Amino acid sequence: MFIVTRFAPSPTGYLHLGHAAAAVNAWRRARAPCGRFLLRLEDIDPGRCRPEYAAAIAEDLAWFGLDWDGPIRVQSAHLGDYQAVLDDLAGRGLLYPCFCTRADIMREVAASTAAPHAPDGSPLYPGICRGLSVSERADRIAAGHRFALRLDMPAALQRVSHPLIYHEEAEGWITCHPGRFGDVVLARKDAPASYHLCVTHDDAVQGVTLVTRGADLKSATDPQRVIQALMGWPTPAYAHHPLLLDQDGRRLAKRDKAATLRAMRDAGIPPEHILARL
Ligand code: GLU
Repeated sequence: MFIVTRFAPSPTGYLHLGHAAAAVNAWRRARAPCGRFLLRLEDIDPGRCRPEYAAAIAEDLAWFGLDWDGPIRVQSAHLGDYQAVLDDLAGRGLLYPCFCTRADIMREVAASTAAPHAPDGSPLYPGICRGLSVSERADRIAAGHRFALRLDMPAALQRVSHPLIYHEEAEGWITCHPGRFGDVVLARKDAPASYHLCVTHDDAVQGVTLVTRGADLKSATDPQRVIQALMGWPTPAYAHHPLLLDQDGRRLAKRDKAATLRAMRDAGIPPEHILARL
């Protein structure tokens, strides 16, 4: 089968060893026996992404000996495409504006005796804004209140007639339970689209057949399958891999300067040594 994989970092810092392992994993699968390895910059969060990190990602991967097929896809250059998906979903009555602050949500959750939580432990959005009337929504928007757009998950699941499943390499077919994630955000107050929306859109338009990414994102597959089903996009296969940990058993983070490819390159460590370590 012709395989298309991708490495899709967010340019919020320099790549570290964990990214290198993820990139090599996706690259090797696409290169043997034949296929395409795509590089995508997920830079829709204007508050956290920086052009210098975006430039560094391409430089560091090239130094590391990884090549990619076609141009780098830069999400911030495709905001109109994400807006078209939002308009489509909104036109079908599947989105609603949410004006809540984090404090509003926490207050509501604290007041409830049995607030449900998502599998990652975060409290589910308690649906505060789902029941606002059309005129209340219009008034708040007219008054300049900032809002996110949430997927009305119960309504969305009603539109999806078939069970949502995906193939996880080491486990086989997995049945999704997207209701456990609540009304996920598809457009943020501070960014025109959310990770879930952009990643599923781009995997579809770029023809990605195998999503390889860290196990921390495995649970994100459930809401992402809902978006794929609503939009009629194909479902790639998935292979979530364990995260690389430091000596203390903590996952590597962009703040761990010594573990960045850049620091290793500056220290004169040859890329082959790093590859061997991975
Ligand atoms: N952009 C995401 C990140 O840097 C990865 C997205 C994905 O692989 O689905 O964590």
